[in-house]
Amino acid sequence: MSRRAEWSRREFLAYGSILGWLPFFRPRHIRLAGATFRVIRNGRSKHRYLLIHGNEETAREVLIRHMQAHEGVAYAIQNHTRNVTLDSGQIDPNRMFSRVGAEANLRKLNPDWTPDRIQSALGELDRGREKLVHAMLPPEGGLIIALHNNSEGYSVEDEAPISDARSLREPSNPHAFYLCTDPEDFRILSASGYNVVLQQHVPQEDDGSLSRLAARRGVRYVNLEVGQGHRGRQKEMLDWLEWSLK
Ligand SMILES: [Zn+2]
Repeated sequence: MSRRAEWSRREFLAYGSILGWLPFFRPRHIRLAGATFRVIRNGRSKHRYLLIHGNEETAREVLIRHMQAHEGVAYAIQNHTRNVTLDSGQIDPNRMFSRVGAEANLRKLNPDWTPDRIQSALGELDRGREKLVHAMLPPEGGLIIALHNNSEGYSVEDEAPISDARSLREPSNPHAFYLCTDPEDFRILSASGYNVVLQQHVPQEDDGSLSRLAARRGVRYVNLEVGQGHRGRQKEMLDWLEWSLK
């Protein structure tokens, strides 16, 4: 390599690392398996937001509108189904965040798969997982808020028994609740009048969800669960969260 060529290469690498900081060169999408997330940036903030289930359309509407008025980075899945494809099978994208959780979910959703096929799919997730996690988790002292919608089959009553602490101020509306990983956030959210549970420790099986990964890594994480279609309620609880957790 000539000196000139070598210099150009160094220059390119130096500029390359700078360009990564410029908005134009920041990726607009990030993907793992069949899950493609649109990246929505607004200003500078240590808040991160996530829509991980594509069929939770109320949460999608609330999040996209929220990002027009609040700073942070949001990751909104572009798919419109709950599960996404992986090697022409299916996986729940909120079960991809650990190998053990992904394996259990792949077995459940693809009962005809051979052990070899499962291992190969797990290998694909292993190779891409950390990049996605690194993008989604907030910087030191930040917070990640995941928006979900539920229906009949799931409510705070499923989470309360396996939580470290619980404050059920609205027992007649179990579908609307916060699930958080930080005790101080729990203390503040308990004053809201809404249902809230704390899952700081992860004694139960690792299901591969991002909340369990956040708890393991000591990251402040809040799940905001509201029944599908309850747009006004989800916006209200997101606004409360935004206002009370700095
Ligand atoms: Zn969900």
